[in-house]
Amino acid sequence: MQATGCSVQRRPVEPVDDNRVVTSREECVERDDRDPLRSQRERFLLPDGVIYLLGNSLGALPTDAPVAFERVVRDEWGQHLIDGWNRGWYDLPVALGDRLARLLGASQGEVVVADSTSVNLMKVVYAALMLGRDSGRGLIGYDAAMFPTDSYVTASVASAVGARPAPLVVSDGRLPDPLPDGLAAVVLSHVDYRSGRLLDMPGITRRLHEHGALAIWDLSHSAGAVPIDLDGCDVDYAVGCTYKYLNSGPGAPAFAFVRDRLLARTTILPAGWFAHRAPFAMAPEFAPADDIRRLLVGTPPVVACAGLAASLDRFDEVELPALRDKSLALGRVFADVVTAAGVDVEVVTPMADHERGSQISLRHPSAYPIVRNLIARGVVGDFREPDIARFGFAPLYTRFVDAYDAAAALVDVVRTESWTDPAYAARSAVT
Ligand SMILES: *Cc1c(COP(=O)(O)O)cnc(C)c1O
Repeated sequence: MQATGCSVQRRPVEPVDDNRVVTSREECVERDDRDPLRSQRERFLLPDGVIYLLGNSLGALPTDAPVAFERVVRDEWGQHLIDGWNRGWYDLPVALGDRLARLLGASQGEVVVADSTSVNLMKVVYAALMLGRDSGRGLIGYDAAMFPTDSYVTASVASAVGARPAPLVVSDGRLPDPLPDGLAAVVLSHVDYRSGRLLDMPGITRRLHEHGALAIWDLSHSAGAVPIDLDGCDVDYAVGCTYKYLNSGPGAPAFAFVRDRLLARTTILPAGWFAHRAPFAMAPEFAPADDIRRLLVGTPPVVACAGLAASLDRFDEVELPALRDKSLALGRVFADVVTAAGVDVEVVTPMADHERGSQISLRHPSAYPIVRNLIARGVVGDFREPDIARFGFAPLYTRFVDAYDAAAALVDVVRTESWTDPAYAARSAVT
């Protein structure tokens, strides 16, 4: 990936030919036949009879992952016992971060794998607020409509250190103008979890820098589906999940990115022993590591890391522009089939390629029972309050026929009103 100029978002994304409205299922079968990523699908375990469109929430299982987990458990833990730490475990957070760097447009040593997204966000918000304090800036901005944990974490860290949270209204992908004075940093989601809108990372980061604020991006809904250019955009801090498009398994550790020019000035709370420059010196005083390990806190989740390693093997085989082309094309097929049917469903996701991630969101007052009805028919999407149905298109394993069939099922459910069956009204704990 280019390290300068944020060029990834301006590239023409798919041949004109593939922008045509899809009119038939046969056309989708044909597209699957000539899909350069076709062979990846069989490297994932997908249940029969299910069209899985929630790779944006929990990625599918790479077929190599169970073997990888078993190897770590039986061979490494079972046979090496404590020596496992000297045979690779200790280096896992940085080694996996370096492998992720290609997907994020980051350099070696800028990414580390650790903890959860929420906890990593806490660390970088704190770090940004400490830098802001040095320059007399005590305000932290965030998109008020962002994924709730991001707002909670940002506001709670700000309050704890005597800074002020500043919820901002991001409208049609634009920050307010003017921005408030005294901003230390602004936290934003690269792709909005509800609408699927992709924000202009190069333009927004530039604008924040011109305003003297740091840019903190949450990449949970873009990493693994949208090529990212953190270095080229000169992003300051970033965090994100590995269990969504990165297919690393439920609860797999998240990642954090620090721009190299900021690393030496980055202070992390809490100071844990894994961030010490010499953890095993057991020194009474904390002294942070010079490298990205300073973002660690405690012992890394070795077993869970095996899922990420197995998933990265898949990504190592694909070109990111091909991944992006397919993701955009899948979303377009789905949205086109729904729109062409003329049913009373609103496509909420902006359809311009540079304004969307890998998800299509639809609005309908009865989105909840519609989603339940679709799941009963083997089409797995999800519901987000108050009236949004989400469908994620993980380009490694989703086929064009899947996008077509899912849209056709949705059209049928809405047209026949089969969702009005009371069986689809009951709520479950996780929607
Ligand atoms: C999925 C997601 C998270 C999840 O955070 P966890 O700490 O892993 O639970 C956080 N932020 C955003 C924007 C997400 O999409």
